Amino acid sequence: MEKPSATYKISFFSTQPYDKIFFEKYNADFGFQLEFFDTQLNLKTVQLISNSSIVCVFVNDCVDDAVIAELAAKKVEIIALRCAGFNNVDLEAAKKHNIRVCRVPAYSPQAVAEHAMAMILTLNRKTHKAYNRVREQNFSLNGLLGFDLFGKTIGVVGTGNIGKAFVKIAIGFGCRVLAFDVAVDAQLEQLGVVYSDLDTLFKESDIISLHCPLNENTKHIIDAQSLSVMKKNVMIINTSRGGLIETSSVIDALKEEKVGYLGIDVYEQEEKLFFKDLSADIIKDDVIQRLMSFPNVLVTAHQAFFTEEALTQIALVTLNNIQELIQKNSIENQSALLV
Ligand code: NAD
Repeated sequence: MEKPSATYKISFFSTQPYDKIFFEKYNADFGFQLEFFDTQLNLKTVQLISNSSIVCVFVNDCVDDAVIAELAAKKVEIIALRCAGFNNVDLEAAKKHNIRVCRVPAYSPQAVAEHAMAMILTLNRKTHKAYNRVREQNFSLNGLLGFDLFGKTIGVVGTGNIGKAFVKIAIGFGCRVLAFDVAVDAQLEQLGVVYSDLDTLFKESDIISLHCPLNENTKHIIDAQSLSVMKKNVMIINTSRGGLIETSSVIDALKEEKVGYLGIDVYEQEEKLFFKDLSADIIKDDVIQRLMSFPNVLVTAHQAFFTEEALTQIALVTLNNIQELIQKNSIENQSALLV
């Protein structure tokens, strides 16, 4: 017998081959019709949607007021984000048009936290350079000098799911952890984490790792002013959202040798670059090119989430969110439902 979900089509945007593999595999138990578009969702591509009441979007899809009005005109009822962050969706507009919005609140906090630590270790111990060097039969150590993480102060901005997982890794390395969040986590305090104001965290940290969402309070949380109070040679890691960092100020601070290391998995203008193979193209974005010219900057292209476990959870939770919304008009996991 045909499953009831077979009458519902989900239109996916910004689809990569791995999305298709994981969603098709786990959809076997749900039985939705799946339609995959490679392109990002925007005001032009919204016209691709036909006879579909559900769209599934990712981090760089544009789901603003104008796109939502078009989605409503096409009788879309559910916007399912297959990610945790939702800064790209105008929730007020969705509410106005009676469109439900859901997300995957915590698919694998460890995936992102472990990538943040991988960036720290790479920047510090320069394994990316050593890898290439020994392949050229250059076994010298000059230029590879690092520092012990043990005993260093790591400042963590945002101690939610990912921040918390990251803090535990940092504690495992023997670091002193300072944290800033709008809500203090008592369990982390018991583990020795000290919550401070943001200014103290910026002043005292050897490494700063960002794990807060992007919103009006956190946009450009790293700017010329906050950079000015930081320690010389500070390491800044951003695996959260590009808009947390004012890129031009951080470039100035890198040139002045105030920032000693920068690791970014996200970038404010990433939607034009990330998730695409542009190796044969001329990149027109001079800012990312300038960033990538520094020897002490490591850029990864929004890959922190990219583990087997995370993709499994993303597919399962997204399909389950949609099914619950269809069947019960609500989602058991409250934090998954945004509108
Ligand atoms: P979460 O909601 O569990 O945690 C966010 C934390 O930030 C909460 O504790 C919240 O209180 C805190 N916060 C809110 N406003 C703040 C402020 N003004 N200052 C300091 N802290 C504040 O979210 P999460 O699952 O830990 O994810 C964090 C972010 O990581 C997401 O918003 C998303 O942007 C990003 N992310 C990136 C990737 C990637 O692949 N690079 C993957 C998943 C999530």
